Amino acid sequence: MRDQLRTRYELRQVQSDSMPWQQVPGKQVLWIGCSDSDYDELETLGLQADQVLEYRNLGNMVIDDLSCQTTLGYALEQLKIRDIVVCGHYGCHIVQGKPNPCVPEPWSRALDMIRSAHNHALDQTSGQERDRAMVELNILGQVQSLSQAHDHDVQVFGVVYDRTSKTGYQITEADC
Ligand SMILES: [Zn+2]
Repeated sequence: MRDQLRTRYELRQVQSDSMPWQQVPGKQVLWIGCSDSDYDELETLGLQADQVLEYRNLGNMVIDDLSCQTTLGYALEQLKIRDIVVCGHYGCHIVQGKPNPCVPEPWSRALDMIRSAHNHALDQTSGQERDRAMVELNILGQVQSLSQAHDHDVQVFGVVYDRTSKTGYQITEADC
């Protein structure tokens, strides 16, 4: 059941002042989003175009490829951005509970690793519930990966976007 996952992380609706760009007007953010999202998360979450370096790929993943690593380097080294948001979304066609054979390498392999790491909990779910859990776990995985790679004064936020209700939820690891 989802209960097993909810002991590991929690979702909290993004409020009007819960994100750094809401607290500090004009603060710049690196946004790592998904290519098949509706692209309306930024407006819904109150981000202005001029404060976002927007990067999207399949499944909002931190991948060791030229595009992703170059964007990260540019954001951190040149623009001195210190706030990164990884935003996934429910209803994603790339990040799903079961492997999607249309998703190419290295994305499919990275998603397989996440599925494998949470195999037991995911197997307690099915259908849409499993898909949603996998979207959340993928976001958490990307946040952890970025946080470990950039431990110096970089804040990484995980957000899952529900396009149906136009609501964002911040994902945080539960205190153990
Ligand atoms: Zn997607």
